[in-house]
Amino acid sequence: MKNAEWLRQLSNLTGLPYYQEHRIFGDKSGALIGITDGYIVALGLGKGNGGHAAVKALLRYAKTQDATHVKQALTPAVGKFKLTADETTATLVQTYSLGKPEAPDVAERMRDLLAALKTCASPIDGKCEECGKAEPQILLLNGVPTRYCSGCQVQLTQKLDAAAIAYENLETNLPLGLLYGIGAALLGSIAWGGVAYLVHRIFLWGAILIGLFVGKAVVKGTGKVTWAARIVIGAMTVASVAFGDSIFYSLIVMKENQLAFVPALKVVLLNFWKLESGSDGGFISALFGLIGAGVVMYGTRKPAFKARFVALGTPAITLKSAATT
Ligand SMILES: [Zn+2]
Repeated sequence: MKNAEWLRQLSNLTGLPYYQEHRIFGDKSGALIGITDGYIVALGLGKGNGGHAAVKALLRYAKTQDATHVKQALTPAVGKFKLTADETTATLVQTYSLGKPEAPDVAERMRDLLAALKTCASPIDGKCEECGKAEPQILLLNGVPTRYCSGCQVQLTQKLDAAAIAYENLETNLPLGLLYGIGAALLGSIAWGGVAYLVHRIFLWGAILIGLFVGKAVVKGTGKVTWAARIVIGAMTVASVAFGDSIFYSLIVMKENQLAFVPALKVVLLNFWKLESGSDGGFISALFGLIGAGVVMYGTRKPAFKARFVALGTPAITLKSAATT
């Protein structure tokens, strides 16, 4: 069955209006967005973890202090859906590989979930989620259906604009980041070389840890992450792993030739490229280090300071039940 047809069928079964233009779950067939018993419900198709096709749903309720309570109450009703819940929203995802689940089954599952939701969370009941003022309309805030009054919309936009300006004005302390980075890289090298020497093998995930450690240290020093800071993170990570290898080789040279550490290190550094290209671990270790560094860089990218409000407009199908919410 075509996605749009499936959603139309589901719209008939659930009474939720169908909006083809609101692709809030990713699929171009759009989504069902509406109110059931005072709760905001959205349902549609998209991608689950790992890119699998999935049925997705949001159930939204008045802010609760206890999201685990909601999770516990909904869990017996989830069926094949995977559930996550925070203080305002339960998110449900059911991946499928062959055909979409039957629409009547999904509709029934939603009924069960809503029945369970009534036991643990209050409906939003026609009020602005932010200030509690009466607000008849649902709209989409960054793709999430919500009730948000015009006053709170203005306030949120202003708040985010101010946050964006504050972020732009944050100081970046690159020298301190460099200093922290060098310190972390050196500690990483000692740990890397020492462990390799003691247990006679290298652990590639150890290189990932070094990348994470160096990345976190640089970020702590710089405050805000700029392109220069990212380059420092990458360079320091590779240097840390490479110097760790040098420490490892030096310890071996020390033992075999009865040398002190510094002369041994000199010998190793003079022959570094030959040693590193002769072993098969060097390049891969650096690569794993960069994976760790990449995780930190991704985690510290510039936040999105945008609130996009979109009116729902007219659904593709209007149902009696949708009009009498
Ligand atoms: Zn409000």
